[in-house]
Amino acid sequence: MTQQAIRFAFDNSYRRLPDHFHARIRPTPVTAPGLIKLNAALFEELGLDPSASEPRVAAPLFAGNLLPDGGDPIAMAYAGHQFGNFVPQLGDGRAILIGEVLDRAGQRRDIQLKGSGQTPFSRSGDGRAALGPVLREYILAEAMHALGIPTTRALAAVTTGEPVYRETILPGAILTRVASSHIRIGTFQYFTSRGDTEAVQHLADHVIARHYPEVAGADSPYLALIEAVLERQAVLIAAWMRVGFIHGVMNTDNMAISGETIDYGPCAFMDAYDPATVFSSIDRGGRYAYGNQPGIAQWNLARFAETLLPLIDGASDAVIQQATDLIRGFFGRYEEHWTAGMRRKLGLATAEPEDIDLIHGLLDAMKASGADFTLTFRRLCDTAADPQANSGVRDLFIDRQTYDAWAAQWQARLERDPQTPAERAARMRDTNPAVIPRNHRVEQALHAAVENDFGPFEAILRVLERPYEDRPEVAGYTEPPQDEERVLKTFCGT
Ligand code: AMP
Ligand code: MG
Repeated sequence: MTQQAIRFAFDNSYRRLPDHFHARIRPTPVTAPGLIKLNAALFEELGLDPSASEPRVAAPLFAGNLLPDGGDPIAMAYAGHQFGNFVPQLGDGRAILIGEVLDRAGQRRDIQLKGSGQTPFSRSGDGRAALGPVLREYILAEAMHALGIPTTRALAAVTTGEPVYRETILPGAILTRVASSHIRIGTFQYFTSRGDTEAVQHLADHVIARHYPEVAGADSPYLALIEAVLERQAVLIAAWMRVGFIHGVMNTDNMAISGETIDYGPCAFMDAYDPATVFSSIDRGGRYAYGNQPGIAQWNLARFAETLLPLIDGASDAVIQQATDLIRGFFGRYEEHWTAGMRRKLGLATAEPEDIDLIHGLLDAMKASGADFTLTFRRLCDTAADPQANSGVRDLFIDRQTYDAWAAQWQARLERDPQTPAERAARMRDTNPAVIPRNHRVEQALHAAVENDFGPFEAILRVLERPYEDRPEVAGYTEPPQDEERVLKTFCGT
């Protein structure tokens, strides 16, 4: 143990909630902490004690061997629907909230260690995480952030020097995760399933003060909270769909009330466009397929709304009707955000009702041809700049005729749009990424790391920092996998 005292300016608001909201628990020290990566930009943004960034201190600190002064770590209690089945007690089984800080912008941020040992919520689990899944979460969370999508962040990754036992023996690691909070739909469900309405109200008031202060003055703040959470999820899911992100485990315990993407497990980005795409090895029925994500979000939000009903005027029929209407309205909201996003992807600054057909016309053609989602839209940017530069995107389609017919329609539509080709192409490049964390490239980086070569992990992080720019170093990362490189399944690694 290092002797040096580290001071973080903690203000632990969740710790101050009643005792049955959490369990006080310290991380279990590990044998040999080794710093893999510290996110210097995020560290700076959080305004943490600069001495904590020295590797000699950062390694034991982010391994849980050294606790900052003023810390009062907890594991949070929650429940959740897993693949549609309700589990009344989950909770942080391998994660420990070290504390909350106010960052340089005054925003409250949770600092959590994931893989830091057993807690009272571990059930039969070992409380640990393996290196591969830790680095996968690091890469994916930071990529999502760079893409401009609300997400938890990765502050640090360390090795523990200890093995973890899964199907094989793997090196252990710990991720330090930063979130605006770790409160989930499942956190509400935990108290509802115990009939503890007082706790639900306490939690709802905490969430309003922390994430949705604007609803505090509404006529019915809890109905307004349902609406506000629903709106942020509509924005979030539309953003996922825009870049081809598949979360993979949209259980209600993996949906953050803040509207941030959380719990990167077997998530992946789609290569060839197909709404039925599933990567997760545990999602055998395809419940969480790419195209199902909006519907699942709505289902999860209905579970959230149910937890709040008892708080609203004794849950009269009228209130239930209002909440039901809100949930039904999710699709309309989602589609509004999705359509606006797709218009941007196609370079349309104005809206015409027929744009919906234009969008679906392209998606249908992509699906029929197995066209790569990211490349299609990125190459359309070139065509938008110069209609003659059409072969790049056209070559992605097996059925060229269908593509040509669609492209003619698109060009005709662009003539009714006020932007110049150069303006349009520039805006399209700001929304259609050149690089995404392609599954095969992520897997290559994780394999190398397990063999103690962190070069590919560092390289992919650098490439994904500025996903909307064409830079020489991204060249090897833009292409879809060759047949032999294709990764068909991803694992959650728990
Ligand atoms: P997840 O599928 O990662 O969202 O986790 C679902 C639940 O299982 C959560 O309550 C986790 O804390 C718990 N869990 C996952 N892996 C472990 C582990 N290795 N040890 C203890 N609990 C775990
Ligand atoms: Mg989870």
